[in-house]
Amino acid sequence: MSRLDRAELAQQGAIRADGLRAAGVELVALSFVDNSGIARVKAVPVDRLWSAAAWGVGASNSFDFFLATDEIVGGAYSHGPVGDLRLHPDLDALVPLAAQPGWAWAPVWKYDQEGEPHPQDARALAAAATARLASLGYNARTAFEIEWVITAADAPDDPRSATAGPAYGYARLSSQAGYLRALVSALSAQGVAVEQIHPEYAAGQFELSVAAGDPVRAADVAVLTRETIRTVSERHGLRASFTPKFEPGGVGNGGHVHLSIWDGDRNLCAGGDRRFGLTETAEAFGAGILSRLPALLAVGAPSVVSHLRLEPHHWAGVFSAWGLENRETPLRLVRGPAGQRDRAANFEVKCFDLTANPYLVVAALLFAGLAGVAAGASLPEPVDVDPGTLPESAGIRRLPTRLADAVAAFEADDVLPKAFGAELATTLMDVRRGEIDRLGSLSPEELCAVMRYLH
Ligand code: GLU
Ligand code: MG
Repeated sequence: MSRLDRAELAQQGAIRADGLRAAGVELVALSFVDNSGIARVKAVPVDRLWSAAAWGVGASNSFDFFLATDEIVGGAYSHGPVGDLRLHPDLDALVPLAAQPGWAWAPVWKYDQEGEPHPQDARALAAAATARLASLGYNARTAFEIEWVITAADAPDDPRSATAGPAYGYARLSSQAGYLRALVSALSAQGVAVEQIHPEYAAGQFELSVAAGDPVRAADVAVLTRETIRTVSERHGLRASFTPKFEPGGVGNGGHVHLSIWDGDRNLCAGGDRRFGLTETAEAFGAGILSRLPALLAVGAPSVVSHLRLEPHHWAGVFSAWGLENRETPLRLVRGPAGQRDRAANFEVKCFDLTANPYLVVAALLFAGLAGVAAGASLPEPVDVDPGTLPESAGIRRLPTRLADAVAAFEADDVLPKAFGAELATTLMDVRRGEIDRLGSLSPEELCAVMRYLH
């Protein structure tokens, strides 16, 4: 994000509007993801796109203080109901929506009324983290995996109401083949490179993975993919739930993040002389993430319900450990098949979920990884069993089991609050505490029910 060149933006907005009109688009949805992980939106008729691009669309500062439940908390940086921001569509990310005819979508940059970048713009933070990486000569490739549960629209609390097939079962796929096809077709038309789609383990659950790319783009794709899943689901008489835990006891919905660090066109997660082919830089990058997982959970598993998902033996990764292809470690090195590792090798962070703001997630991971690189950090011994089966004497610690503990770890971290900036870091934790206040005393059943369709 750069300084606003309003004349240029107006002109580009008008040019893009001409193209959209020719494609039958009448409205443009302008969205951002707030500190509680909810995508919020304003929309403009296509004729106003030039104005939105140049001058922005008004939005209250109080959006920074929204909880997922729509209550608004106070905080050190709150101005209450006073003040306005400007939301500027990023025209480079603008795309017509295939499953929502007549509409296009663009993520926004946030500025204040004076034309200064807003310090709580999560997308700008992701761009800043990416720029920091670039200034050191590196780039990252990132992708979010989306897991969700579908239900019949008239039985939204029954995860078997839309499809009853078994885990990973062909029967589940064939019972929803038309829906899945419509979904992939819409995503492809929107430029999202779907790599795989499959029925997952939990009742009614599916998963979709996409090609890795630039971190900001990966977060945009995560937003666009989720909203497309939601829309296509509704058009098929279904509801889509992205909650970390649909019902107590079951397997959750993850929001795993894949990332690899590159030097130009060379993947530093492969071809090196460290364990499993990691280079020194990639190992340090992974170590920076691993050592900060307790703090990172306040960003990547940020809701009270996130911590119902973080149970041992559920492939969510709840111990401070890493491993090769180990689905019970929160940091999993995925090498890919021999012969393809120079393209495919990457780290997967498994303990995160889809109540997280994906822009904050990529920013936090990049800052944590870079801190590891700056410190020349190294990884401990990898774990090649389920760490939940190891005795305490193995010395592998459990990650925080409560959101409050993750918040404390974030606030004590030597890198993340500073990298986020005081205003965003403080408000983010104000929002976390607000959700703990409102939701922390609910029973697991009540919590799952409240959170089921919020994100
Ligand atoms: N659904 C699991 C989770 O809660 C992950 C399953 C998998 O490894 O894909 O993260
Ligand atoms: Mg999965």
